Amino acid sequence: MQSEIIGLSKEELLNMITEMGEKPFRAKQIWQWIYFKGALSFDEMTDLSKPFREKLKERFKISRPKIIKEQTSNDKTHKWLVEFEDGERVEMVYIPEIDRGAVCISTQVGCAMGCKFCHTGTQKLTRNLTAGEIVAQFMLARDTYHEWPSPTSETRFLSNIVVMGMGEPLQNVDNLIKALQILSDGDGIAISKRRITVSTCGIVPQINYVLEETGVRLAISLHGSNNEIRSKLMPINKVYPIEKIMEACQKYQSKDGSRYVTFEYLMIDGVNDHLENAKELIKILKSYHIRAGFNLIAFNPWPGCEFKPSPQHQIEAFAKILSSAGFACPVRLARGQDISAACGQLKSENKK
Ligand code: SF4
Repeated sequence: MQSEIIGLSKEELLNMITEMGEKPFRAKQIWQWIYFKGALSFDEMTDLSKPFREKLKERFKISRPKIIKEQTSNDKTHKWLVEFEDGERVEMVYIPEIDRGAVCISTQVGCAMGCKFCHTGTQKLTRNLTAGEIVAQFMLARDTYHEWPSPTSETRFLSNIVVMGMGEPLQNVDNLIKALQILSDGDGIAISKRRITVSTCGIVPQINYVLEETGVRLAISLHGSNNEIRSKLMPINKVYPIEKIMEACQKYQSKDGSRYVTFEYLMIDGVNDHLENAKELIKILKSYHIRAGFNLIAFNPWPGCEFKPSPQHQIEAFAKILSSAGFACPVRLARGQDISAACGQLKSENKK
């Protein structure tokens, strides 16, 4: 039976190729065909001999997840529901800006974290995605937007990756690290580490390990200014409360003066959006000397949810308090809400 070639690390690919009796440089050629040129079959690899291509075909396949459904929002946000070989499905999203755009990819089918504001949190965790399945989501987006070979200029449609889709990435650490190493490899997909952000609900012991291994950026879903509010919204806060998160952030930023954390903060009407909450955030960040920016996002409703988004004037007043204390605080417009592609709205119905 053929195995999937997407998701092998460079080293694993090299070992496979030398095991097959080929010269090591062939591994680099194959890597570039797959990850730089986006080849979908071994027949395209015309600088490899025909007998070698036949041997590769017997042993490996190059696939993408199957697209079950695609939707484009009024603001051009694009959402895919994709299915893997075993029938498991996830959603992934592309959020375009004028001269760039971010692909939001998933790392798990469902999620065990149960955050109350998140639609994915209502879907039981079925399994972790493999490194290949994580990488293949981005490759599928590149297929859709015809962005092969990997663009060498800074101008590209798919310029950023946010690991913020379905699942908690730091609960799937080995596959995540491998996937991020493939996505950022300069001989292939070549998305700069500065343009990749991993967002976590705060699995404290893994935060610095993953970021040291991969060099990507950190975003933390905070959503509460004290442990009482945050624990109500995010059960994980009972295990890793705000103080532990701040300690992890301190460690992250101390390695290099240029690193800072982004806090995601969903503004939920009457729950976490009082101006006192903004002041509380400032107090805690200052006491831990955290350099940080905030993404304030109005809560995105989904069927059956118990919350409402904060009014715009409240979000703006909240942002003003944070920014006057020196924390960058853009108020992000919800993107893709009309197709349920906005932050916290993803959910995949499985075939099974
Ligand atoms: S916010 Fe993230 S960690 Fe929380 S339930 Fe949703 S997907 Fe899981």
